[in-house]
Amino acid sequence: MIGVGDMVLLEPLNEDSFIENLRKRFDHNEIYTYIGSVVISMNPYRSLPIFTPEKVEEYLPGLDEAYRSLRDQDKDQCILITGESGAGKTEASKLVMSYVAAVCGRGQEVNKVKEQLLQSNPVLEAFGNAKTVRNDNSSRFGKYMDIEFDFKGDPLGGVISNYLLEKSRVCKQPRGERNFHIFYQLLSGASGDTLTKLKLDRDFSKYNYLSLDSATVNGLDDAASFRTVRNAMQIVGFMEDEVQLVLELVAAVLKLGNIEFKPESRVNGFDESRVKDKNDLKEMCELLGIEQSVLERAFSYRTVEAKMEKVSTTLNVAQVRRSALLNGIYGCSPLQDNSFEQFIINYCNEKLQQIFIELTLREEQEEYVREGIEWTNIEYFNNAIICDLIENNQNGILAMLDEECLRPGTVTDDTFLDKLNTICAEHQHFESRLSKNSKFLTDHSLPHSCFRIQHYAGKVLYRVEGFVDKNNDLLYRDLSQAMYKATHSLMRQLFPEGNPAKVNLKRPPTAGFQFKASVGGLMRNLQTKNPNYIRCIKPNDKKAAHIFTDSLVCHQVRYLGLMENVRVRRAGYAFRQPYEPCLERYKMLCKQTWPHWRGPARDGVEVLLTDCSVPAEEFAYGRSKIFIRNPRTLFTLEERRRA
Ligand code: ATP
Ligand code: MG
Repeated sequence: MIGVGDMVLLEPLNEDSFIENLRKRFDHNEIYTYIGSVVISMNPYRSLPIFTPEKVEEYLPGLDEAYRSLRDQDKDQCILITGESGAGKTEASKLVMSYVAAVCGRGQEVNKVKEQLLQSNPVLEAFGNAKTVRNDNSSRFGKYMDIEFDFKGDPLGGVISNYLLEKSRVCKQPRGERNFHIFYQLLSGASGDTLTKLKLDRDFSKYNYLSLDSATVNGLDDAASFRTVRNAMQIVGFMEDEVQLVLELVAAVLKLGNIEFKPESRVNGFDESRVKDKNDLKEMCELLGIEQSVLERAFSYRTVEAKMEKVSTTLNVAQVRRSALLNGIYGCSPLQDNSFEQFIINYCNEKLQQIFIELTLREEQEEYVREGIEWTNIEYFNNAIICDLIENNQNGILAMLDEECLRPGTVTDDTFLDKLNTICAEHQHFESRLSKNSKFLTDHSLPHSCFRIQHYAGKVLYRVEGFVDKNNDLLYRDLSQAMYKATHSLMRQLFPEGNPAKVNLKRPPTAGFQFKASVGGLMRNLQTKNPNYIRCIKPNDKKAAHIFTDSLVCHQVRYLGLMENVRVRRAGYAFRQPYEPCLERYKMLCKQTWPHWRGPARDGVEVLLTDCSVPAEEFAYGRSKIFIRNPRTLFTLEERRRA
């Protein structure tokens, strides 16, 4: 054993020894270290010979425990994988999936489900991952995967939900980054015949949406990936014609990017926009089965419903419409650093941190107090006030943004910012609000049109530009109606609101509202399950093997709250169960308790554990529950039950 495998056993325990232990292990290819059942995973940036499914069990016993309690105790499990970009979350999730595939049963049906679960990855990565400055295969969306198991512990199927795809990447990529992999894969890997059918050229430079400075990535074979993706789509269940429909949409997006507009003066003094070179427009329409005049008109005019009349107003900002349309197609607005999107992502991270704190730290302490088990209180930072600052229904930032979006009169990003500043400053006069609003940082060094929040991971500056529009998230109705006229079946499905029979004059919920609701749903769901954690850490900023940068690791250890986590665990018992079910389950292991124990269940459990010669320091008797330090103790009991 190199270093200490479980930080709970580290002596002395301080930040330096903690990081030193991670470094020592990392230097010896020991990339997993535990804090009780929380796994810390260091990204090795090279492939280690430990990733065979058989080996996973040896290296990740935590997974094994989660799976056993799922199968044997029918307890829903969730695995939360966190860490910064490039820390190894995606790789860790693949490992979890291959573990599941390795340990559960076999048979034709089960194998098919397993294969589908595994093959969902290349498909999602093709459409949702891209090369960024920090990670050559960065996931630009959040993912929640639900796998359902039957009573034997075999997977029945899965549902994948995605959150917050970074749609803006389609039309604009930061310097040194690429668009989503699928575009390059398609152009590099499809046959000449396929490309002709899709009216595409193999040459990346023909497309405005494909950045050229970093079109090829070392170590990525786009052509080979294309074959993998096509094959995976088939396994996941796409029919051949459905694959074709998807590729047509990808091609249509590339065409859309090439459409350019030119202003044209009109007699009444308005500028109108016209499509410059109609060839790309024509080809896009052919791909989607839309009449060219319909789409052209939808780009340039806007129907405003005023009472009962319809008035057509010209807009000279057809580009705006194009990007709005794109958002609609790619399921998918230019992303600047720390814009609305980043605000929403950080809100989500804040919520995940909160659930971690709640479940691992607070719950733990509170239960010890409830059960009368000795406990020394541990101070920890609770980020609930930051969540409240964002999501509070009355005066949270999202609520204020919604209020501003719905307010009649002239609404701009700056009126929204004024409101934020006024309300947050106002509340600072009230004692009770002080702590919350001290997370909303107002100082004179703020650049124009910006606000700053003290997130749990650090201070973040946000620019308000675009907050109001993005929160409104309105795809012009004319555009959805034009899309709904397409003969392309998949395209129609993407724009159900374009169906004239279903015109809904009610204002759609804002983007912020929708997101808050989906995060809320996710949190409620996670709270019903037993949480398991994989905390990923990135050893260096160079995407390189063998380099361990102390300052970088230290930063991550701090904001992940890992030190507090060890302190709580050290004082802790890993497993607990009410006396009755515990006695019921194990009474067969002891003559005095089998078949009936007459007396309090607590005493029965004591007799039972003594009889099974479980060492006394392994457990503590709470008011209603038995507390067991090490889950292994429990597995020993389980094995004896089966024997
Ligand atoms: P993002 O938030 O940007 O999606 P991520 O946390 O998902 O980042 P990954 O894509 O999983 O990061 O990892 C980045 C890269 O690091 C991988 O492409 C791979 O090269 C390397 N890597 C990560 N984990 C491992 C591992 N366990 N073994 C070998 N290489 C790894
Ligand atoms: Mg990822």
